[in-house]
Amino acid sequence: PVVLGIETSCDETGVGIVRGRTLLANAVASSMDEHVIFGGVVPEVAARAHVEAIVPTLRAALDEAGLTLDELDAIAVTSGPGLAGALMVGVGAAKGLAAATGLPLYGVNHLVGHVAADLIGREGDGEEAVALLVSGGHTSLIHVRDLVDDVEMLGETIDDAAGEAFDKVARILGLPYPGGPEIDRAAADGDRDAIRFPRGLTAPKDQARHRYDFSFSGLKTAVARHVEALEDAGVEVPVADVAASFREAVADVLTRKAVDACTERGVGILVLGGGVAANARVRELAAERAAAAGIELRVPPLRLCTDNGAMIAQLGVLLVEHGREPSPFDFGADSTLPMTRPQAVGVTES
Ligand code: ATP
Ligand code: MG
Ligand code: FE
Repeated sequence: PVVLGIETSCDETGVGIVRGRTLLANAVASSMDEHVIFGGVVPEVAARAHVEAIVPTLRAALDEAGLTLDELDAIAVTSGPGLAGALMVGVGAAKGLAAATGLPLYGVNHLVGHVAADLIGREGDGEEAVALLVSGGHTSLIHVRDLVDDVEMLGETIDDAAGEAFDKVARILGLPYPGGPEIDRAAADGDRDAIRFPRGLTAPKDQARHRYDFSFSGLKTAVARHVEALEDAGVEVPVADVAASFREAVADVLTRKAVDACTERGVGILVLGGGVAANARVRELAAERAAAAGIELRVPPLRLCTDNGAMIAQLGVLLVEHGREPSPFDFGADSTLPMTRPQAVGVTES
């Protein structure tokens, strides 16, 4: 089947088209530039930007694929989780398009979509895997037995998301937003062992309750204290060393917990997703540790790791192939849609 996917959960307006496992189009417009002066994504600004970008992005995707609407078999749209106002724009657009074309419409889970991105360009329905999804909005460790109906959330951040930590620490170091790429660049010339920053939720006492959860706010505070102490002492802050040591702490915790989850659950594949999957040290440590544990590491191309419509289209293709019913027309944007629901349900069913 050929499915068009619409994604508007955060600051990317994405429209992708997938036939089977083949990527036909992946058009993305980002409102990132409009959030720079605020140092983070502003929900109202993101929602308004989606309204402006949705039709041009839809056109761009159809052009790129060389398709007309009547050549599609279904539409999929992110129902949640995400920013409520932003999600509503995509869901509204998708409903309008479905009503106008008579195409079946599937409301789908954004996080499951991130995992489905790994199927694009491959064969099959995806093997059992652990997925580490790390971006400005999420930090989730997921056990996927079957993308269509057996997905389990293992752990999440209990405070800041991983990407958010990069953005906040960049600000402390006087680097611009978004901070992830800036810190990555600065860290390249630094010593990762210069400062031993805390590894959140890895102490033995955290083992029972927070085995697979993450915490980055203590780390951020530790960096802030370290920088303040140097400034108070009139010492120049070694930005490269602080960046490298901070990046090491994040990469260490993320990859350690992800590989442990694979080993402890007997899963042979680890999938990375989200903007932080672009991080050079996260990739390097994940590759090292996965190889040492005999686990296959899969990192989709970056354009498919960050928010995009193609991953939503791919999840839609799977739902169609598995004979799932389209979502009832009264399904809505659900900013807290749980992971256990790859597909959104209607108001009357939930
Ligand atoms: P969502 O959370 O819904 O997926 P988002 O827009 O917050 O959406 P992405 O667009 O996937 O997430 O990723 C953006 C985040 O990734 C930002 O926080 C950014 O700092 C971080 N990021 C990007 N590149 C890197 C990098 N090289 N290292 C670390 N973090 C990075
Ligand atoms: Mg983004
Ligand atoms: Fe996302």
